[in-house]
Amino acid sequence: MTVPEILVLGSVNRDLIVHAPRLPLPGETLRGQRFGSCLGGKGANQAVAVARLGGKVALAARVGLRENGAAMVEQLKAEGVDTRAIAQPVDEVPGVALIVVGAEDAENQIVTVAGSNGTLPLAQVEALELAGLRWLIAQQELPLESVARAFERARAAGVKTLLNAAPYRPGCETLLPLVDLLVVNALEAQALVTTLGGGVAGPEALAQALHDKGPAAVLVSLGAEGLCWVDAQGVRRVPARIVKAVDTVGAGDTLVGSLVTALAEGQSVDDALTFAQAAAAIAVSRPGVQDAMPHRAEVEQLLK
Ligand code: ADP
Repeated sequence: MTVPEILVLGSVNRDLIVHAPRLPLPGETLRGQRFGSCLGGKGANQAVAVARLGGKVALAARVGLRENGAAMVEQLKAEGVDTRAIAQPVDEVPGVALIVVGAEDAENQIVTVAGSNGTLPLAQVEALELAGLRWLIAQQELPLESVARAFERARAAGVKTLLNAAPYRPGCETLLPLVDLLVVNALEAQALVTTLGGGVAGPEALAQALHDKGPAAVLVSLGAEGLCWVDAQGVRRVPARIVKAVDTVGAGDTLVGSLVTALAEGQSVDDALTFAQAAAAIAVSRPGVQDAMPHRAEVEQLLK
């Protein structure tokens, strides 16, 4: 097995999705039209995004073996993700997201249960193998103290850290001094800045305010409007690729995975941002989350 260059520390969920004519009222039973389940969780999504694009990636996670958790780990392996750092406690239930999609995808209702994601212990973080890594990336569906410790260790080992501060959680601002690259969408950026005592602002000002708190670079993603990037060289705006958006769920995960893949290869910031916008545009033009994530050749074709 090759040595990973990118380690994702993050969540693994099973998404259970039913399509219904509308959302049910409290106590109501509706007849739905379709059911499907798929692998999700921001950690798993970002690891799969990297693997599809040819990055050497490992996932550190905790997947309980009850409710057929082993199948989730097997699926990650089949995607080319190194799963050796996934703890698999026999008596725990894996994370789950129960999703009801209303008519024509216009509305949805989601309940998530962290399951074994919520118990990832510091001891597992202390045991992580960091030799040979270029990047450690994490999101906020695991205990924040585990993320903080992993980032401290990465910093000490000369490994760059990327925090995707999603979903927003109170207290996550304490991670900022440990972050090399912060990736947030506009809502998460505003929530962070508000917590830090700032006011309502546009994306450039939000990115700048977050850059002042420690990260060497900050990316604020802006959906169909692309992104805003701030680093020591200043601010850049990169427009999104114009595509017909079919399903934008998980766009941010494709953006993070593709960006870190390009940066780990040594691409310049400009090239890496262009690559990431192309990958994310392909993902939003197709239904599903992991199902929609592009393979390397598709992104290269679009960039020709
Ligand atoms: P999140 O999913 O985290 O909320 P965004 O909605 O900001 O993230 O989207 C992340 C990236 O996905 C954007 O920077 C852009 O590259 C791409 N994207 C999202 N929506 C569209 C769209 N409608 N058209 C083209 N690209 C899009």
